[in-house]
Amino acid sequence: MAIHLPKQFVQIPRVRLLYPDPSPIHPLPALTTSLNSNSNSNTTESTPRPHISLYTKREDHSSPLACAGNKYRKLEYIIPDILNPTATTTTTSNNSNNIPFTSAAGGPTAPGKVTTLVTEGAVQSNHTIQVASVARKLGLESVAILHKGSGGGLASAADKDAFLRVGNVQIAKLLGTEVRMLEKKRPSQEQREQQQQFFDPVAEVMEELAARGKVPYWIPSGASLHPLGGLGYARCAFEIAAQEQSESHQLPGTGRFDYIFVACGSGSTVGGLIAGFKLLEKQQPSNKFPPRKVIGIINSPTKPLSWHQDRVLRFARTAGRMIGLDPENDITMADVILDNRYAGTAYGVLDAQTKETLEMVARQESVVLDPVYTAKVVRGMVEGWVRQGELGRDWASRVEGLYRHQANVLFVHTGGQSALGAYAVVE
Ligand SMILES: *Cc1c(COP(=O)(O)O)cnc(C)c1O
Repeated sequence: MAIHLPKQFVQIPRVRLLYPDPSPIHPLPALTTSLNSNSNSNTTESTPRPHISLYTKREDHSSPLACAGNKYRKLEYIIPDILNPTATTTTTSNNSNNIPFTSAAGGPTAPGKVTTLVTEGAVQSNHTIQVASVARKLGLESVAILHKGSGGGLASAADKDAFLRVGNVQIAKLLGTEVRMLEKKRPSQEQREQQQQFFDPVAEVMEELAARGKVPYWIPSGASLHPLGGLGYARCAFEIAAQEQSESHQLPGTGRFDYIFVACGSGSTVGGLIAGFKLLEKQQPSNKFPPRKVIGIINSPTKPLSWHQDRVLRFARTAGRMIGLDPENDITMADVILDNRYAGTAYGVLDAQTKETLEMVARQESVVLDPVYTAKVVRGMVEGWVRQGELGRDWASRVEGLYRHQANVLFVHTGGQSALGAYAVVE
């Protein structure tokens, strides 16, 4: 399938980690049926609800590498920088942007050929697994700094010893990454910026590796603060647009995915998608249909909504600038639609309703969600946007004529099932 990227975008270096074919998109027929029958039974509403067709894009089937998920797409654009011996101490591979890497780095980086990828995450982090497998692919070592102190489900786990050993921790070790469990909470980026002397466990690891003659390369949590972190999902928007055209789907209504639901954790997945779809709309404006809407479902209640909105806007603009958009004018806060109502009680904690969603989707569709991100996304999409009629009202306010009766919704499955083993309450 041909993906038509604009010239400036195609020129950005990328090392493929995904399968040559796009990750599959398929309908969710049972969920579609139950959603539409529930919503139609409510006859008291003045706005007629559209028929909603639900599909999913399987980013968990995107790559042959271990535990495929959304981080591989981001890492495809970071690898050229890893392989560039001067990049970590100078600028991005796209020099015109002049974004110094040191601003994204957690500590000092040494010049020279990179030997070791270093990253961090919660105990059951999916991101660190994907970094560990990329390291293996590149013949490098890797260190995964896992934070016991930042929640991530450990405190509420029924079997804490197992939580620290199974699921993604087991796979990280299997991939040969060096796992460092940290007890102490890492100071936030804001704290680190304000207070230079703050104890920073990441800087400590970087220094220790450098002292041993290694050349560490720092990849921030979720790869989002990395200046190249948003490009993968900007490209994914073009992939989705190409898949809309493919004959196998025959999408009803507009023939497009009118709404795209995705998790918002560290934020560059949703940010990249926003940038990519903006560029698509700018290239091929439609006077028949409203623009596709990307909706990010936040999975952690720790930070206020505005914190996420600011970051996602920044990530969308950073990617947007590189792919040929005018970032300040083309992408605004109005494009950043994030929903924090389904974040639950804590990051990585499976609340009762999210657990119900996970079990329901498994039984209805034989599709397994993950307990930290995608189950919250589906819950937010179903409860918040479809059942309560928000999506229908939004669609009716933006579209004319026959198109009003049908809306196509794409849920982006970002992976993460490898953490399920640590969540033994799901059964
Ligand atoms: C990291 C991750 C996300 C969140 O993506 P961000 O780009 O960090 O917002 C969603 N789902 C899964 C399974 C992940 O591992």
